[in-house]
Formats: sequence, C-alpha cells, structure tokens
Amino acid sequence: MNSNIEIIDSIIDLKAEKEAIILAHNYQIGEVQDIADFVGDSLQLSIKASRAHGQMIVFCGVHFMAETAKILSPDKKVLLPDKNSGCPMADMITASQLRKLKDEHPGAVVVCYVNTTARVKALSDICCTSSNAVNVVRSIPENREIIFIPDKYLGDYVQRQTGRKLILWNGYCPVHAMIDVRDILEIKKEHPNAAVLVHPECTPEVIDIADKVASTGGMLKYVKASSKKDFIVGTEIGIIHRMKRQNPHKNFYPASGRTICPNMKLINLEKIFWSLEDEVYEVKVPTDIIEKARAAIDRMIAIK
Ligand code: SF4
Repeated sequence: MNSNIEIIDSIIDLKAEKEAIILAHNYQIGEVQDIADFVGDSLQLSIKASRAHGQMIVFCGVHFMAETAKILSPDKKVLLPDKNSGCPMADMITASQLRKLKDEHPGAVVVCYVNTTARVKALSDICCTSSNAVNVVRSIPENREIIFIPDKYLGDYVQRQTGRKLILWNGYCPVHAMIDVRDILEIKKEHPNAAVLVHPECTPEVIDIADKVASTGGMLKYVKASSKKDFIVGTEIGIIHRMKRQNPHKNFYPASGRTICPNMKLINLEKIFWSLEDEVYEVKVPTDIIEKARAAIDRMIAIK
C-alpha cells in the first residue's frame, strides 16, 4: 500500500465490513480527523459513543477517551489504534489516591474531569468535561463539600466562575501548562486585533488575558460566530485544522509553538487500517467498573 488514497479506500471498505465507526478528538492529526465519522471534544465524543450504531468503535484519541466509549457502549468492541496513547494528566491520580482523599473528606461529592481512568471514575459521583464543569459544580447543593480531580487549573477556573470552594488535586495538563502569557502578548503585538481563545486547562494567568475561555467545541462555535478575522489559539494545535476548514478566510495563530500533545499525535492512517484489520488494541473495562463509572458519566450527560 503506497498512498493515502489506497489506505483511505481500504479503511472505508474495512469499516463497512466490520460495521465500525471512527471517532476522533479535535487534537488528532488532520488526516485522521478527515477520515473520521465524527470529530469533537470529549463531551461530544462521549455522547456520540453512547448513541453509536454498529459493532465496533475505533477511537482516535487517548486511552481514557476509549475507556469512556467502552463504558458507554459496553456491547461494542472499542479499539485504540495505538496502545501507547495515554494522557499524563489522567495518570496523575490513581484509584487508591482518590480513596484516601475521600477518606479525608467523608461526605464530599467527587467531581471528576473526564480525563481520568475508568477506575477513578467508578469512585466518583459525577464526571465533567471542560465544557460543562461549571454547570456540573453549580448542580451540587451549596451545603456539600466538593472534591474536584485531577486538574487544578480547570478546578481553579470553576472556583472562580461559581464562587464555590473546591478541594483540588495537584494534577494538570503538561501541554496547556506550557502556554505562557508572554508568548501570547508577543503574538498580540503583531496581530493586535486578534481574539485570544484559551482552554480552561491553562494557568489562571493565561485565562486572565483571554477574550474567550472555552472547550475545543466552544472555541469552534465562537470562531464561527465572531466577526473577527484573527485568533490566537491557546490549546493543542490540532484544533486549528478544523478551525481552518470551517473558516477558510480567517487566520489562526498557535499561542505557543509547544502546544503539541505527543500522545494525541501517535495515531495515523496506517494505524487505523491495522487497527480495523487486526481488531487491535481492544480496550476492556471490568463489568463492575463499567457500572459504577457509567453512573458518574450518565449524571454528567444529563446536565450537559
Ligand atoms: S492535551 Fe493534555 S489533557 Fe489532553 S491528552 Fe494530551 S496531555 Fe492529556
């Protein structure tokens, strides 16, 4: 097989034969986004996985996302085309660390960012994504203590938006933590009218200079509706592929040259082809974990 066209044709044939759908996160490389049946942020992908038809889901993202798809569609075979695509933030809290934290705060409601393992979700009361974290926290009665894991920066943003005091964990996304105010201000000098869009996984200093704080899905909506021509994008650079496709006459500047998530970039067309052909790498989650984690995800989906 020697060209992208041949690989794409083979993927399309295998997809039909195996009744598979391909879901891709906004941070995937362009050619993976282009072959996917659906591209979106974590919340959109979770909802899509819960309503997917067919026998198989090929998940182009990182491991916790494929686990979430398995939890929401336990009867389907869920495949991750590269078994090494993990998320360092999700690995920053383990189930035993969360158990200990819960013991220290008995009665606290546990809100867990979707960037966590299935075992951590199973110990949590409700999940959230970057697009609904504020609403999820607002849905919790005022008199309840809240543990928010694992992202301290998203947690800090939610605290500031809701006025609620949260018990935070010391987790963070290394890619978003690298975005620096000084880099954004430098780009602003050249493009003074550009709108600054940042993800809530960024540091509070970066969030403070943003025109819009949003999930990747929220950023796409903002760009489409905006009359501005120029945008400085403070999240993983994969999103710029979709921004350009949807808005060919607008200009997008990455907030930093370093905002590349190496885990998100592990998947390519060849790996999707092999994944479908050999049905690898299957993501499995024990039934008892699926049941408990599903309850936390369903509570989140009900809030949106
Ligand atoms: S961008 Fe950050 S949070 Fe997302 S997968 Fe990569 S390391 Fe994890």
